[in-house]
Amino acid sequence: MKTENNDNEEYSLNDLINMAIEFHGFPVPGAVIGVFMADWALELLKDVPKVDAIIETWLCLPSGIHTVLRYRRNKTQFRVVDFHKCAATFYDKKTGEGIRFYLDTEKTKDFPNIHGWYLRTLDHDLGKGERWAPVTEEFLLARRKVLSYEYVKIVVPKATLSTPVVSCKECNELFLSVEGQEKCEACSGKAYYKRIKEEECLLLKE
Ligand SMILES: [Zn+2]
Repeated sequence: MKTENNDNEEYSLNDLINMAIEFHGFPVPGAVIGVFMADWALELLKDVPKVDAIIETWLCLPSGIHTVLRYRRNKTQFRVVDFHKCAATFYDKKTGEGIRFYLDTEKTKDFPNIHGWYLRTLDHDLGKGERWAPVTEEFLLARRKVLSYEYVKIVVPKATLSTPVVSCKECNELFLSVEGQEKCEACSGKAYYKRIKEEECLLLKE
């Protein structure tokens, strides 16, 4: 039986890059960076049995990180927080201590395509494929050279198997009350949506 801490060396880094792109659906630089971040993280955390990840953008990066965690550790577990940053933290599930990786602008300066992509100064008249191909190529060349990392400790509590499920005082929907809250995140003013009337919604109108 495969255990979580049995690093699976069956797939090479190149395999994982191709698998990440395949998973994503088309070649994107973020999926490639995600692979390099997660590969480096698992190397540094090789003695940690259970590694979790928090990814700071939903853009592309999760495809790469998912692929490495899934095929190197036989398990994908990560959260996405919308900080809109090209960064991700990999940490020991037990202690909360971990390593946060980020794409470092001081280092991307040496790689014009990556730097332009990162700062969004590339020619936007080109199609995505044309615009991103040289960036992805450069990432394959730069690999870890454009990344930096720092040591961190996770401070946000996380739901566990013993976290109670409660009904929100306001909307009655069920949620996991991680810190004993009585209202869900949405009803506590952190909603990412607002409700609209059916007649305001254009979705199903031809
Ligand atoms: Zn609610």
